[in-house]
Amino acid sequence: IPILEMKNAGKTYSQNGRAIEALRGASLRVKKSEFVCLIGASGCGKSTLLRMAAGFEAATQGDVLMWGMPITGPGPSRGMVFQDYGLFPWLNVRDNIGFGPKSRGRTRAEIRETTDRFIELVGLQNFADIYPHQLSGGMKQRVAIARVLANDAEIVLMDEPFGALDAMTRERLQDELVEIWSRTGLTVIFVTHSIEEAIFLADRVVVMSPGPGRIDNEYSIDLPRP
Ligand code: ADP
Ligand code: ADP
Repeated sequence: IPILEMKNAGKTYSQNGRAIEALRGASLRVKKSEFVCLIGASGCGKSTLLRMAAGFEAATQGDVLMWGMPITGPGPSRGMVFQDYGLFPWLNVRDNIGFGPKSRGRTRAEIRETTDRFIELVGLQNFADIYPHQLSGGMKQRVAIARVLANDAEIVLMDEPFGALDAMTRERLQDELVEIWSRTGLTVIFVTHSIEEAIFLADRVVVMSPGPGRIDNEYSIDLPRP
């Protein structure tokens, strides 16, 4: 049974009484611990598909399932990482990462243990007390990744997460993400418009056609990993 499955899923937004079809007939099965990259032209519905997988948007046709159960809203098991980081500016690195466990009523000791573990995983030991505006883009994105992992995400949904970073930082974070993924058995769905990035990162590349996108081509790429 796949961790995430879309069956003929579609989304039509209504905006000022006008219907905007963003996605049509999307079918996709993602197995646990797969790293799937989703590529396609701008506007084909990649972000919409991710937001439906996260539970931020409901499908207007078809089914979106996690472990075979309909996704009815957002939940901590599906963590989303955005290009613009989405950190809480009023919280330091430690409290950004600890926000999920704290809001779910974990004890201080549990929160401390969790935040320490994930701060170390992304290499921010010396920055725990720093606020987001003092961090570089790469460091902010590390905090965002640690934050979803600390909140017990089983699937991480990433919407062009490295799109705002310079080439060197991007390559470093790509390496780090693969490292984290191979150590944790995480499931990742990663949206990018860079074919290079998709081929470097993915177990499987899913290509969406333009327009109100469909998924018609899936290329399986088996890459040897270090
Ligand atoms: P992509 O991520 O592939 O660029 P999106 O999912 O962002 O594509 O958008 C797909 C289509 O849906 C576009 O035509 C976009 O304008 C439209 N769209 C996206 N979000 C909304 C929204 N909240 N309301 C209305 N239309 C939207
Ligand atoms: P990245 O490439 O990961 O975005 P940078 O290249 O901007 O990071 O930063 C490289 C190093 O510079 C960091 O690992 C850190 O040691 C130091 N650094 C960056 N921003 C700060 C800051 N606000 N305060 C102290 N040191 C910093």
